[in-house]
Amino acid sequence: MWFRRDLRTADNPALLAALSDGPTLPLFVLDPALWEPSGLPRRSYLVDSLRALRRDVPVSVLRGDPVRQVVLAAQEVGATSVHVAADYGPYGRRRDEAVEEALRDAGIELVRTGSPYAVAPDRVVNGSDQPYKVFTPFSKAWAAHGWRDPAGALPGDARWRHLKDTVDLPDVDLPDGIDLPEAGESAATDAWHEFLDKLADYDDARDKPGVAGTSRMSHHLKYGEIHPRTILADLAGRQGKGAATYRNEIAWREFYADVLFQRPDSARDYLRTEFATMQYDDPGPDLDAWKDGRTGFPIVDAGMRQLRSIGWMHNRVRMITASFLVKDLHVEWQHGARHFLQWLVDGDLASNNHGWQWTAGSGTDAAPYFRVFNPTSQGRKFDPSAAYVKQWVPELADVDDPHEPSSEDRKKVGYPEPVVDHKAERQEALDRYAAIKG
Ligand SMILES: Cc1cc2nc3c(=O)[nH]c(=O)nc-3n(C[C@H](O)[C@H](O)[C@H](O)COP(=O)(O)OP(=O)(O)OC[C@H]3O[C@@H](n4cnc5c(N)ncnc54)[C@H](O)[C@@H]3O)c2cc1C
Repeated sequence: MWFRRDLRTADNPALLAALSDGPTLPLFVLDPALWEPSGLPRRSYLVDSLRALRRDVPVSVLRGDPVRQVVLAAQEVGATSVHVAADYGPYGRRRDEAVEEALRDAGIELVRTGSPYAVAPDRVVNGSDQPYKVFTPFSKAWAAHGWRDPAGALPGDARWRHLKDTVDLPDVDLPDGIDLPEAGESAATDAWHEFLDKLADYDDARDKPGVAGTSRMSHHLKYGEIHPRTILADLAGRQGKGAATYRNEIAWREFYADVLFQRPDSARDYLRTEFATMQYDDPGPDLDAWKDGRTGFPIVDAGMRQLRSIGWMHNRVRMITASFLVKDLHVEWQHGARHFLQWLVDGDLASNNHGWQWTAGSGTDAAPYFRVFNPTSQGRKFDPSAAYVKQWVPELADVDDPHEPSSEDRKKVGYPEPVVDHKAERQEALDRYAAIKG
């Protein structure tokens, strides 16, 4: 069983399929092609998650190109098949095809069972057998398609194989002051059960960054410490707006995975190609101010500082900070997406890059480009008590108006003046958009 993004024992059909074949070697390969570009928070979280998995499953760890390592590991234990959950990302697909071929040459079969999604990409299609390009019809067809019930627990009599030589899990040194969530299947299950008690309030609370109203399940889902099928099965028995809204958010995750599967180029390039011809500014000191949370726009700075402090940012603020970079600073979304992936523990190519494209106006189902977020009024609307701004920009805790401090207050507490004039930049963004609209 080659684990990748499925670091759990429960509801893990690929693991059950492996065990039904006989004694199983649980394997994880530290792949430099994935490890190197991951930021420190994600590396650290992955190692913690593997350590947690090892409490239940004796995972052997190797380092190197999976094409070589998986074949060598399978040969060492005399395996006739290697079991995985299918990966639908652009890199994962290429890697798995190469591994499959190398295994085949060695007389070993690669068996794909399940995926990180309730409904795997490419399954939800319209009446003409085409993928959906817009979320709402996708989500309806996705719900109508349905999903399997969760698979069972790990059997008590599971028998394991080991490799002779494995590598130690590396220790990852995190920057000072960063505080990551607890990793692992039991942390995921506990967090999910705790959230279920708050589900009734989710619909109201989810847009308020100053309230702990969302589930914080994204990193657990990213590493497969819990499967969305398990989550959907728990939601199925519950009525009310909270459950319906939450199911819809899971559908967004599945939609973006599907879009990325259909258009792997959209991980880097504009989904709506006309946006590639828009005029953008070269990234300069303003990009650094944005990254460091020093733009002088409190809600933007709060979000960017939250990201660096805990490897997570509230969804509403992801939209506000992303919009600010693209529409106020006129920097291309890819620069921001890269920074997010560097710091987010839940950093996921499909959800992140399509979240960015959505905000930039160039994505599927995108917010119309001309709807430019005003960071100050967004702050006032979604963080009315300024609890969020005060938490992450503590120098503003005692000023009269934390969402729009006076120049005098800014000077007094050492908080910067706004790096741009939002009104002027909004107009500039609209002018640049008008130029590509023709
Ligand atoms: C610019 C931008 C970048 C983003 N980058 C990522 C990313 O790298 N990884 C990631 O998992 N999510 C990303 N999101 C989506 C969303 O912000 C996070 O999933 C959410 O904030 C995670 O917190 P939560 O688990 O408490 O969310 P909840 O509100 O509790 O949502 C439950 C689950 O639904 C899914 N979900 C919710 N909203 C979205 C969405 N808009 N798109 C896709 N899935 C969603 C997530 O799996 C989430 O864990 C991004 C959004 C934007 C606007």
